[in-house]
Amino acid sequence: MLEEMRNAARKMNLLNFIYLTIFVGWLATKQFVVQSDVSPDLWQNMMYTGLYSLVYAALYFACKDNKTAMHFLAYCSYPIFLVLVWDLVNNTHNMYSVFYLFAIPLIEFRHLLGRTGVSIYSLVTLFAYMYSFYNSNSSLTFDEAVNNVVMLCAFMIYIMSSIKSIITTEIGYYRRMKQAQDISFKINEEKEMINMLYENVKSLSGTLDIEEIAGQVNNICGNLMWHKTFILVSILDKKSSTFQFYKFVEGERADALESAEYDFIREVLATDRTLCTQDMFGMPLHSSGDFIGVIVMKNFNQEILAERYHMLHVLGDQIALVVNNAMMYMNKELESITDGLTKVYNKRYFSRVLSSMIRSNPENLYLMMYDIDHFKKFNDTYGHQFGDVVLIETAKTVQKVLRDSDMLARYGGEEFVVLFEAPNDEVALKIAERVRKSVENMQVFNEEVGRNISVTISVGVGKYKDGWTAEQFIEQVDKCLYESKVAGRNRTTIYVD
Ligand code: GH3
Ligand code: MG
Ligand code: MG
Repeated sequence: MLEEMRNAARKMNLLNFIYLTIFVGWLATKQFVVQSDVSPDLWQNMMYTGLYSLVYAALYFACKDNKTAMHFLAYCSYPIFLVLVWDLVNNTHNMYSVFYLFAIPLIEFRHLLGRTGVSIYSLVTLFAYMYSFYNSNSSLTFDEAVNNVVMLCAFMIYIMSSIKSIITTEIGYYRRMKQAQDISFKINEEKEMINMLYENVKSLSGTLDIEEIAGQVNNICGNLMWHKTFILVSILDKKSSTFQFYKFVEGERADALESAEYDFIREVLATDRTLCTQDMFGMPLHSSGDFIGVIVMKNFNQEILAERYHMLHVLGDQIALVVNNAMMYMNKELESITDGLTKVYNKRYFSRVLSSMIRSNPENLYLMMYDIDHFKKFNDTYGHQFGDVVLIETAKTVQKVLRDSDMLARYGGEEFVVLFEAPNDEVALKIAERVRKSVENMQVFNEEVGRNISVTISVGVGKYKDGWTAEQFIEQVDKCLYESKVAGRNRTTIYVD
């Protein structure tokens, strides 16, 4: 913008110079033609003036891109021009030439004086014109009349060019104002947008379901980034970098991470830095200085990201707060449903799930119960503490041979239950036997006795029968377990009608 204005000003300067040169030439010619006593000095003056104009114009073009050189040229040329004009005045004794003595420095110095200079120049010119007009005879000679007209034209041209220059400057100023207004409007618009999004995220503080939060954050960030894929990562364990993720592709929940996405998340987790690749953007989430998660967006417009990056960061802090709240709640929830020693589900939670399964989906529902054999004696032999270690290891071993959808819970003491689905008794028995064998093969090293120790379990398993209550179901399976104990332990008994 500024460059445009500068170019316009240069053009104006050149234009003014040309007007002036033509005017001086024209005026001088008129003087020459009408006056009969043309002296050789006047000829000489005209020659010098013409020559000067040519040299000036050449120099002007040569250094028009250099402001300092332009000013230098202007200041150097002024005394020369002054001498020439003075010479002209002496030769012609014409009042009109005098005004140049006033006008020229103003023209040259308007580079420095700006608009004030132009105004002063215009006033001086007007004054010079009025003065000379006033002092001329009422009966003008043809020569004087032509001079007047030429001068008036030149004056008008100059005034018009000055006005044009002022208008150009004004338009530039107006444009800049408009630009500033536009920027301020844009900033306000952005401010409003970010406030709105911020409030949206804030309103999620009441939500403790992290999955729902992830969905909402996806929508909110979608308003900013227009991305296709969104992943909210919440860190479960910082040391091992284990995390859970909630992925959305075009608003739809997706289950699996692509390997590029997985690698990218790992990189953000390792560096704890905002990262951006060709199509992925990952920003760490911090709450109270803790690195709690990452948001990843994929397939978005890079230009939009550059423009809205800072907005995302502001939102990021609020998102982190909401996610952290939900995670803390989730951890508390988890604590309330898990067994403190073995970290598998507790009896209370098992009862809740069993009841709801019976209500909603009791088909193919199996229950397995197992109890460690002679555990009282085991405790007496190796100590209660080692007994605890064995309980923990047993739970881990069993968990490993179960599917994700199976549910292992500590029912009490050294008695555990597994709720699972199987197509028939045969498969259910296989699963129960797999569990039993896994414990049988388990070895736990005891430092006191210096060798591996193993335990066995007795298992009861049974299918849910229509009409049973949860208690009846447990009771029947417990009976099977008891049968296994009676039959010699370390075996599985399945319920038969
Ligand atoms: P069996 O089941 O084979 O009939 O014999 P058992 O000796 O295991 O008998 P029972 O199941 O009645 O005994 C339960 C024992 O399990 C009692 C207690 O010493 C032990 N036990 C229960 N809870 C814990 C626990 O949290 N830690 C440890 N170390 N032992 C426990
Ligand atoms: Mg027992
Ligand atoms: Mg026992």
